[in-house]
Amino acid sequence: MTVATIHPIDHLMRADRLPHILCAGCGIGTVIHSYVHAINESGIDPDRHVCVSGIGCSGRAAGYVNVDSYHTTHGRALPFALGIAVHNPELTVTVISGDGDLIAIGGNHFIHAARRNVNLNVICINNFNYGMTGGQVGPTTPVGARGTTAPRGAVEQPFNLPHLAKAAGASFVARWTVLHVRQFTDAVLRSMEKKGFCFTEVLSPCPTSFGRRNDLGEGIEEVEMYRQRCRIDNGAGELEQLGIDIVDPSQPITVGNFVDIEREVFLG
Ligand code: SF4
Repeated sequence: MTVATIHPIDHLMRADRLPHILCAGCGIGTVIHSYVHAINESGIDPDRHVCVSGIGCSGRAAGYVNVDSYHTTHGRALPFALGIAVHNPELTVTVISGDGDLIAIGGNHFIHAARRNVNLNVICINNFNYGMTGGQVGPTTPVGARGTTAPRGAVEQPFNLPHLAKAAGASFVARWTVLHVRQFTDAVLRSMEKKGFCFTEVLSPCPTSFGRRNDLGEGIEEVEMYRQRCRIDNGAGELEQLGIDIVDPSQPITVGNFVDIEREVFLG
């Protein structure tokens, strides 16, 4: 009997960076796993994949994958990635970062990159808070959810990221969770194959900062919540209706591949 000594994706990981910094139950590792599998299945030479990330726990993703990668300044992953993609259209450039980095300080870059239809694959790991800095509420924190800066619950209307991406002009828009590993990996693969601004939101547990303040329990319990509450609606047309209510357990969370259109690509 032959015993495998290496994993099929070992060559795409930087084992010298282990152990990683992520907490037990964090969903970011699952996202990296899916991204690396998508690279493997894309048939594109790893030397032509580039990973760009910003700041925060999610922003550490670029440090663990064994392709050319850039860990950039806060909120600026998209302009760095835009420069790479426009300079060399032969590259497959993926941005992996968090809701705070991409949508708060990086929000203006987000809408303009989508508006221009820059050829980028953007993965937003949404854990509804600033995990690395201790759990402040951010631009995706659902109304009523608690954080260190809103101990009685957030009162501001959160961004609905698929709706925002579609409204700004993205060519591909999806929302999945770390429970939906196959569908999420397929969405990332589709983004690698497609020209234009492709955006996938992936809901991910942050048990350390968000889960414990919102009675979501450990990471596995948040994933169980997704199993119970998510409904798949590929091609859903009413994205403005598909916000995320973490507080009310009766509210479904809609996931799926929502938008897949062709538009002229920015300097592609
Ligand atoms: S603080 Fe939250 S997002 Fe950061 S590594 Fe820990 S669980 Fe993950």
